[in-house]
Amino acid sequence: MKTKEQLELLASQKRAYRLQNKEKISEQDKKSKEKNKDKITERRAKKYQEDKKTIAKRSQTPEALKSKMIRRWKYNGVKYYDFDKLHDNFIRTDNCEVCNIEFIERIKGVKGNKGPVKCLDHCHRTGYFRHMLCNKCNTKRPIYERLHVEVLLELHRYFKLCNI
Ligand SMILES: [Zn+2]
Repeated sequence: MKTKEQLELLASQKRAYRLQNKEKISEQDKKSKEKNKDKITERRAKKYQEDKKTIAKRSQTPEALKSKMIRRWKYNGVKYYDFDKLHDNFIRTDNCEVCNIEFIERIKGVKGNKGPVKCLDHCHRTGYFRHMLCNKCNTKRPIYERLHVEVLLELHRYFKLCNI
């Protein structure tokens, strides 16, 4: 067993050797990499597959899905005072708040599972959360808003004409 001082001395010697023989070491590394190219690729591919499996398993837990969803909302600029509460609300909502259609949970890999998807509607200007909508109502929202404004303008014009 080496003492701490001895280990430190060895390390500093190694560092000095590496510094002095930089080019030689780099040449050796290159040669060794070239020689074991296939082995390295194989090892990397195996590690990648293993990591992929563990990551996939870990990312499917309810907590991981929840944090992923909240992260996405925040990234999209949604503002809310309590994201845990918002998530609970999102999970508990079964129908679209505009057209009342029932949401169908999409399951990966199941064919014919193309029901309305639950979306979180928020104001893109202020970031404030508005409603839980189906994907159709969510994409139609700007049209509703424009129509709303048009109706209001028309009413305003009418009132002005009638001197109300
Ligand atoms: Zn809807």
